[in-house]
This record gives sequence, C-alpha cells and structure tokens, in this order.
Amino acid sequence: MRIGRAAGVTDTGRRRLRNEDAFICEPPLFAVADGMGGARAGEVAARLAAAALEDAGVETKGEQGVTAMIVEANRRIWERAVADPTTAGMGTTVTAALVDIDSGTVAIGHVGDSRAYLLRDGALRQLTTDHSLVAELVSSGVLTPEEAERHPQRSAITRALGTEPAVDVEVLTIVGKPGDLYLLCSDGLPTMLSDSAVASALEASDRDPTAASEALVAAANRQGGEDNITVVLFELAEGEPPVPEPAAAASETIADEPVPQEQERESEPGQEAEASPASLSRHGAGPGGRLAALAFIVAVLVIGALVLYWGFSK
Ligand code: MN
Repeated sequence: MRIGRAAGVTDTGRRRLRNEDAFICEPPLFAVADGMGGARAGEVAARLAAAALEDAGVETKGEQGVTAMIVEANRRIWERAVADPTTAGMGTTVTAALVDIDSGTVAIGHVGDSRAYLLRDGALRQLTTDHSLVAELVSSGVLTPEEAERHPQRSAITRALGTEPAVDVEVLTIVGKPGDLYLLCSDGLPTMLSDSAVASALEASDRDPTAASEALVAAANRQGGEDNITVVLFELAEGEPPVPEPAAAASETIADEPVPQEQERESEPGQEAEASPASLSRHGAGPGGRLAALAFIVAVLVIGALVLYWGFSK
C-alpha cells in the first residue's frame, strides 16, 4: 500500500473578509487548522499550528507522533499569545492525519471542530467527534443533530489549540485499505453541505482529490459560503511506496534554476565558460524573444566575469 493522490485547497468563502484557515498537504502528514481570535490573531494561530506541525518532522509515528506534534503546536501558540498582547486569547482548531505506510495505519489527532472523514466502499463516515457545544448537547440528548445544524452557537468550540498552556488531544487510528479516501476539513464545509452532499461530490469527481477538493469548495460557496472553507483529501492506493529520488535527479533540479544565479555562484572561469553554452542552448530552445534576451544578458555577465577574473588574476 502507498499514499496515492492528495490535494488541499482553502477558500475565504463568500461572507468573511479574511481566511483564517490553514492546511498542510505534505505526505505522510495532512492537517487542517481553523483559527480564531480578534484582529488577525486567528490567522496567526492557524499558521503557527501549521508551521509547528511541518517543523515537527514525522520520525515519531502513530498516535504518539501526531499527539506530540499537536502538543508542540499548542505550546508555540500559547507562548506567542502570552508574549504578544495583540494576539492574546487566540486559538485554533487542528485536525491532523499522519500515515504510517509500514503499519498501514492512519493516526488522526484533533482538537476543536475541524473534521476527518473517510470514504470507503462508497460510504462516507465521520471519524472525529467535534469538540463543540452543540456536539455535546447532541450526545447528551438535549439537541437533535438537525437542531444542532441550525443552532446559533454551533460554531462555539469547547477545546482549542493555544488558549491554555496544556491541551487535551483526541486521537484515533484507522487501519488503512487501498481505495480509502480521507477528507480533512474546517467547519466551513460541513456547515454548508450535508454528509450526503459531500459524498456525492467526491463520487462525482471520480474520487480525484484535486477535482474533488475544488468541487467541494465550489459547492459550499453555492450554499452561501458563510465561513472559510478548507479541504484536504488523500487516498491510499495499491502498490509499493515510491523509492526516494536518486542523487542524479536532485542535480537535475539544480540545473533548472535560473541561470544568472548559477553564474554568480561560479568562481572558476573554466567552469563558467563550460556552463554557458549549455545554459544558452536550454534557453534558446524555449519559445519567444524574452528567453533569448535573458540568454544574451547571461552571456554578457559571463564574459564580464571572465574579464574581471582575468584582470584580478594578473
Ligand atoms: Mn471555521
């Protein structure tokens, strides 16, 4: 089994002025964060959470790994909020999925009301339980799920990242199956679309993460787009995980960098002269006069550098 296609998209929606959601789509780590707080603090909190998760690395796997990441993200947001009064009280939700291909499992950690869903064998299942006021009222039988959807306090969450020095992370593990399609989303999606509407959008997009994420955002906007909408989708597929790229592929990437930088880094005149024709032919092969002009400028720079080097070495 391997991680197949993946895509993430975030959209401000139709009512909000700013987008305070953030996401990560960096296999094997996927996450959604929905920030809250005055001024631009919500944006800060969500971005801090995403950055902390990215920095955490994925050496520690499973529930322990995903919990450690979220705890670290909490620490960073809390410390920032304490140090910077303009962000006091900021917080964010987070829902993160960490895939461990070796054990074939998906560990999901969450705080707040961003959700994880799984589409398997044509059925969409909500994996997470919201840490929200209405979710608690539903589970204690005070509200029906339908009443919760229309409740004025439906966006009030009971747990957040960054609002306290410690955080209680809820974790769960799914044993993955090829064909699984995982969906992480901020509340801007499910408040606009029913689960069945989400499921049909996924199927209608042929379960292609890129097409489906865009279709879901468009559908939520058609329903009003009252909040920021963020969607991350990834699939598990048959087959072996890809082998890490060999060193040859890496040097190829460097060769594709803009030519002027390459030339400036060079110190040996012999190398410069050698690099130049290859660069020129690469750009010469491209369409339009802009590349030809760039190649000309590069050639002038190379000749200038050679003249300078010759002058200094005398
Ligand atoms: Mn939201």
